[in-house]
Amino acid sequence: MKRAIFSVAISALLSTVFSSAIAHEAHVHGVGKLDVAIDGAEVTLHLNTPLMNLLGFEHAAKNSKDRAAAQKMAFRLRDAGRIFVTTPAAGCRAISVKLASNAINPILLGEPTTPPAAPEASAHGHADLDADFILQCSHPDLLESIDVSLFEKFKGFQKIDVQMVTQKKQLAVTLRPSATRISWE
Ligand SMILES: [Zn+2]
Repeated sequence: MKRAIFSVAISALLSTVFSSAIAHEAHVHGVGKLDVAIDGAEVTLHLNTPLMNLLGFEHAAKNSKDRAAAQKMAFRLRDAGRIFVTTPAAGCRAISVKLASNAINPILLGEPTTPPAAPEASAHGHADLDADFILQCSHPDLLESIDVSLFEKFKGFQKIDVQMVTQKKQLAVTLRPSATRISWE
């Protein structure tokens, strides 16, 4: 009995260590992570990236120059149809964009809600941005590829690790400035 409790505690500890190791590893300047799920007519994309790749800094927006940079970044990301360029025949359009960061005030990101307020600075001096996009396609059967223009719009990206799931398959690709297309079929 005692032993069983002990091993549960160990596995809980291991999983904590393991997940924090992953979280730590995920923050590498130049590298972004993009999860894509295609389900029927809906394409859901989740981008997790060091704020550095988008803004060139990872602290709270302290002055008007920082605030302008944060707003410009949010404005560009919210133009999701230009960030994720889908097969034209599929007729996809963005229906939702949500942005969150542990360093940037949600108001600067164009988020309508204030509470709960994001902490103004991270304890480790690093900060991320999480972006959720939903596209809806009128002819999802014609959707064959997504061109990711994050490299072109934001100079800080060197590679983006993509994990994609559709009803039929799963795939993993690494995008680089010279290879920005996710394609399947
Ligand atoms: Zn960082």
